[in-house]
Amino acid sequence: MDFDVLHELQDIRQGHWAAVTGLLLERLNPQTVALWIRPLQELSFADGVLTVTAPDAYHRKWVLEKYGPELTQAVEHVWPGTRFEIVVRTPGGGGEAPDGSAVQSALETESIPEPAPAQALARAQYHPNLDPRYTFESFVVGSSNQVAHASAIAVAQNPGRTFNPLFIAGGAGLGKTHLLNAIGHAVFRADRRKSIQCIPAERFMNEFVSAIQQGTSIAFKEKYRRVDVLLIDDVHTLAGREATQEEFFHIFNSLHDSGRQIVLTSDKYPKDMPNLEERLRSRFEWGLIADIQPPDLETKMAIIGRKAEPLGLTLPEAVRIFLASLPTANVRDLEGYLQRIRAYSEFQGKPVTLENVQEWLAIHMGQAREASCEEIIKKVADYYNVRPVDLKSSSRKASLTQPRHVAMYLTRELTSLSFPDIGQRFGGKNHATVMHGCDNVRNRMHADPQFAAVLNALKRSLR
Ligand code: ADP
Ligand code: MG
Repeated sequence: MDFDVLHELQDIRQGHWAAVTGLLLERLNPQTVALWIRPLQELSFADGVLTVTAPDAYHRKWVLEKYGPELTQAVEHVWPGTRFEIVVRTPGGGGEAPDGSAVQSALETESIPEPAPAQALARAQYHPNLDPRYTFESFVVGSSNQVAHASAIAVAQNPGRTFNPLFIAGGAGLGKTHLLNAIGHAVFRADRRKSIQCIPAERFMNEFVSAIQQGTSIAFKEKYRRVDVLLIDDVHTLAGREATQEEFFHIFNSLHDSGRQIVLTSDKYPKDMPNLEERLRSRFEWGLIADIQPPDLETKMAIIGRKAEPLGLTLPEAVRIFLASLPTANVRDLEGYLQRIRAYSEFQGKPVTLENVQEWLAIHMGQAREASCEEIIKKVADYYNVRPVDLKSSSRKASLTQPRHVAMYLTRELTSLSFPDIGQRFGGKNHATVMHGCDNVRNRMHADPQFAAVLNALKRSLR
């Protein structure tokens, strides 16, 4: 078996766990993930149990005590109904456990207790599949999102009877995921027996792929055909995934025919999604397409005020105006600024005045300056343990082409350099070579969650 195939297999094996760590990255702070979560490795995923190994008993105990609930929740979120176990790697067992048996026999095993599904759900304040922060109450309505908001409410009050599907389109950080979850919460509150699935399209694809690999695709289909309200986030990521699109098409039809509600979000309109099967595109356009535009100044100010509350921040109006005028429409960025403001005012014991805020954020914006191509090359070379000059060389050694493509891709993503500019900086390559490298990386990211996670981490560290 050649190296690449072996590598791929390993990636698939690690894929279930990688999908969970991807989710944890959104919920735990990066240091926690690096220190406690990354060292866990996938051992097996079978019979409804995802098993990972911890380096030692102490590590395992700490993770279960401190992050047990987040982990159980994340696993449940990615593969509903799946249990999660951490076992301790045997000494000398190494990072890989080629065949779990030897490792497993020598381990102490203990699983996090599974919540009793039906009863727990009846009592739960929030549906386990939904983000508790994202409700209609916490959503600020302005002219930019009014139509999307009103249609989301209509759908939530009368699932399957008004717009079906509801397709919410809009740029990053404008509240699509928020509205999607809000619909789920409202349906859940009105009737707890309703079965709700809220899942990013990317995770839907991963689940589908592993169902095929494990011969459980019938169960997969059944599970989705049973739901009353199917909420799929970021369907633009289905582009180019023919097998998943095909499966989704059938699930869509079966749900739609029986009057169940489907809500989709996307950063593109159906008509602008390349590599989307025609029949799926036309399905997406059957109901209502509601778009969310970037918020205007007043709406931004209101959102900022709302987001400041749970942080315990009181913002003078001058500060809200200043923040709302910053050149970003992405509410996630604005939330980042608020976190920063709170941290600084706490650490320095200073009040939140316009002057202080400008000073605190100037540092932040300094950090947000564009990374240089040289920095990117150095970082990537360090990560892959090669020399920066090697990345600029034209050597075709397999150990260099991947890091080189990664560096090209990151340069394209993080700087304003054009393809020919990038070629120049990588030892005078032509623009087609750079484009090809970037495409390679993008394809691999699609196919391989772990690789995508590495790239995202590199990207973050360069920002
Ligand atoms: P998207 O899915 O469109 O990329 P999200 O729904 O994840 O964006 O929103 C990013 C962040 O911004 C979330 O914390 C969300 O609560 C917040 N947000 C966006 N729009 C609004 C709004 N109108 N009111 C309150 N919060 C908002
Ligand atoms: Mg989103």
